[in-house]
Amino acid sequence: MGGFQIEEAERGVRTFRMFHRETDTAKVARNLDAVFDLHATALDWLEDYTQIEYPYGKFDFVLLPPFQYGGMEHPGSIFYRQQSLLLDESATQNQIIGRASLIAHETSHQWFGDLVTMAWFDDVWTKEVFANFMAAKIVQPSFPDLNHDLRFFLAHHNTAYGVDRTPGANAVRQPLENLREAGTLYGAIIYQKAPIVMRQLELLVGEETFRDGMREYLTEFAHSNATWPDLIAILDDLSDEDLADWSRVWVEEPGRPTVSTELTLADGRVTELRISQSDPAGEGRVWPQTMEITLSAGGTLSTLPVHLDGEPLLLGDWVGRDAPDFVLPNGGGFEYGHFHLDAGSRQHLIETLPEITDAKTRGIAWVTLWDAVLEREVAVGDWYALLLRGAVEEEDEQSLQRVLGYLGSTFWGYLSEDERAVQATSTEEILWGQVEQATVTTRQSSYFNAWRNVVSTPTGLARLHRIWEQVDSVGGMKFSVEDYTSMATTLAILGEGDAEEILDRQFERIENPDRRARFLFVRPALSADPAVREAFFEGLSDPENRAREPWVLAALGYLHHPTRTSHSQRFVIPSLEMVEEIQRTGDIFFPQRWLGSTLGSHNDPALAAAVKEWLDALPDDYPHRLRGKILQSTDGLDRAARIGNP
Ligand SMILES: [Zn+2]
Repeated sequence: MGGFQIEEAERGVRTFRMFHRETDTAKVARNLDAVFDLHATALDWLEDYTQIEYPYGKFDFVLLPPFQYGGMEHPGSIFYRQQSLLLDESATQNQIIGRASLIAHETSHQWFGDLVTMAWFDDVWTKEVFANFMAAKIVQPSFPDLNHDLRFFLAHHNTAYGVDRTPGANAVRQPLENLREAGTLYGAIIYQKAPIVMRQLELLVGEETFRDGMREYLTEFAHSNATWPDLIAILDDLSDEDLADWSRVWVEEPGRPTVSTELTLADGRVTELRISQSDPAGEGRVWPQTMEITLSAGGTLSTLPVHLDGEPLLLGDWVGRDAPDFVLPNGGGFEYGHFHLDAGSRQHLIETLPEITDAKTRGIAWVTLWDAVLEREVAVGDWYALLLRGAVEEEDEQSLQRVLGYLGSTFWGYLSEDERAVQATSTEEILWGQVEQATVTTRQSSYFNAWRNVVSTPTGLARLHRIWEQVDSVGGMKFSVEDYTSMATTLAILGEGDAEEILDRQFERIENPDRRARFLFVRPALSADPAVREAFFEGLSDPENRAREPWVLAALGYLHHPTRTSHSQRFVIPSLEMVEEIQRTGDIFFPQRWLGSTLGSHNDPALAAAVKEWLDALPDDYPHRLRGKILQSTDGLDRAARIGNP
């Protein structure tokens, strides 16, 4: 492997080797121990859980600078994207935990995927769900202070709902007739929904039975192929539940149930509290699930474990009690659906969410309200005011990162242009105030990134310019060359200075040859000259120019910057036209990421209408799974167009 450095380390009886191309030796040194430790911890955990020794003796991993996957498993060796493992000093908590999860995921594949492989692509999801499900368990001892139930919820539900609420939603398990379409199987349903399904399965049969079933499955099918029904058959034998029936709706059906709470009060007391589920597609499907209802009264939380089937549940325990502040039917964090809250609870959460004392309940409430915004059950103005409060008051760092993510996407995508102009100054000031006050490095990084993401006023941009010039420093923050590159791109797109000069100077600062090549590639997409941006987009019709997929995605993000969407609209339909070819020439995640980077910033109703017209005109023989992927991506445009243009 030309141009690679090798680092070696011993952990217990094992030797690990890391191959990389990072030229910043301090950065390598800073990350090395954590990277080796996390691999060693994951291996030990997996040997214990599975009771099967690591099957491949040697353990090597290779860090590739531009790599389209976070990681890719091979027996005895793993490929990673370099920047996922070698973190900057300005890393956020999400990046730090994300690295541990990625290492745990890829290490799990040595058992799930390499030792036992799937019989056919129908079950390609099984290795991914096992890897993600195990990863969530594996990382726990490495982060003893983290709320892992909240972590599981935040890492899975929001992303899974992003697909399952759309008309293009796919099932977890999909029949595959044509190998060329294998790539379209991958996505949030496999990586984020399936682990929730697995969690429900584990709750249903019990943790020990589940673990014993996994051991039996790995032993029986070691060095051979297995299917999902093989695992279900093993677990079915070990438990009393009818799992084949259960599996049908969770695994073979797309979508999610609508779970509604109805609260009836008389004289300030509860007379009836009813939880029921319905099938939004009107097909009468039922998602049986284990739930934990959380009820808040006078600020005190109570929880009630229940099992919801097709029949409505009447929660008699709470009849006669004082009217609650709110009822959150998905209080456990493992429930799945569109949770349609009763109006009183929704209103209470809009007014007081940050005051809830329990971190997990708050985190669940944030995601549930976002769902309600997208379903137009909550007004976006109220939501935005709540986010600004949350940005200051949310104490849990995991939820804070979620809140800041919502803040950025709501600011750019869902506020009307007038409303955005009204909110810009106060939003920047609130976030900047937090950057200055933060005492924890990772929190400070999250605030800084959130501030940089929304900065758009002359005052804010002038400040960013001084930071980029290294005239101003920001508390104790240590910025990497990557951070300065991000600042330069924001200044090039939004700043008042000479964009080309800023980009020239930033290029001079970059020493690493891989990073220089990336910068040169994306640079035309940042140009202030629309003709240069158009020429860049034209160039993408040549597959050669799409070979470095992460670079292409970054460039698309610049082309479609929220302030440039009136120009970049012209690229949208041509980009949709290209998806079929991209699926043939690109890697598995590329078509949907191409769509996401293209559509993510748009909210013009006229564009939404044009896209719909294009979709309606697709021929009947257009690959149906690809059509689904497109519908998954255009759903956000439709919702943003409706919400942002009332
Ligand atoms: Zn994987």
